[in-house]
Amino acid sequence: MADSTREVARESQQVDVQGADERHAGLFAEKGRIERLGRIRQLVFGSLDGLLVPLGVVSGVAGGTGNTKAVIAAGVAEAFAGALSMGAGEFISGRSEAQVQRTEIDKELEEMRQEPEHELREMGLLLEREGLSVEDARAVAVTLSRYPEAYHKTMVEKELGLRPDVSTVRVPEALTMGVSYIIGSIFPLIAYFFLPVAVALPVSLALTVVALIAVGVIRGTLARINLVVSALEIVLVGGASAAGGYLLGVVIPRLFGY
Ligand SMILES: [Zn+2]
Repeated sequence: MADSTREVARESQQVDVQGADERHAGLFAEKGRIERLGRIRQLVFGSLDGLLVPLGVVSGVAGGTGNTKAVIAAGVAEAFAGALSMGAGEFISGRSEAQVQRTEIDKELEEMRQEPEHELREMGLLLEREGLSVEDARAVAVTLSRYPEAYHKTMVEKELGLRPDVSTVRVPEALTMGVSYIIGSIFPLIAYFFLPVAVALPVSLALTVVALIAVGVIRGTLARINLVVSALEIVLVGGASAAGGYLLGVVIPRLFGY
């Protein structure tokens, strides 16, 4: 009985190795695709900020001075300063997060080297928590421990809830953030290059709303959620934030007599 089980196990293992490459290629592509989709956070964050902060700055300067040159100088300076600061912020905060995770992963791997028997029991408990019987959990843990790489990865994923291959260099994320910010800032700014301030102000507002809708549609497409709901949500949140900024910008200076 035991022999025949082992025989079946060995056979299925051989089949596994043969077709593994092609079948795994599809699986890994899926992981990469989801990872790229994960950058939707930087895309939405960067473009929303890049639309709303420059909109507040140029509208404020336009309303306060009526001077095209001043609006453009303030808007362009804000756009670049904002993009660089958001990119840098994303780089450092993402890196800090990854470094904390890396340290925890290294600590776990060290524990697995120091106390293999304790960690084996731990793996059994983790598997039991996922619904395996006590005996099966122990058996799977023992089998898994014979393949160090898979064993380490599974422990990190199951016990810490982390990705074992976490990257501490967040360049694509930082670039997505900064570029999204710069592209966003074009919309509230562009009208002032071609139109007198009085006309540019409403055009700038309208273009920003159009861009907010576009961000909503892009986000909805990537996340595969309802496009109308996605666009409405972004326009409402963005509009509320801009209106709040405008009100506070008008009310607070008045409180101080300006
Ligand atoms: Zn552990």
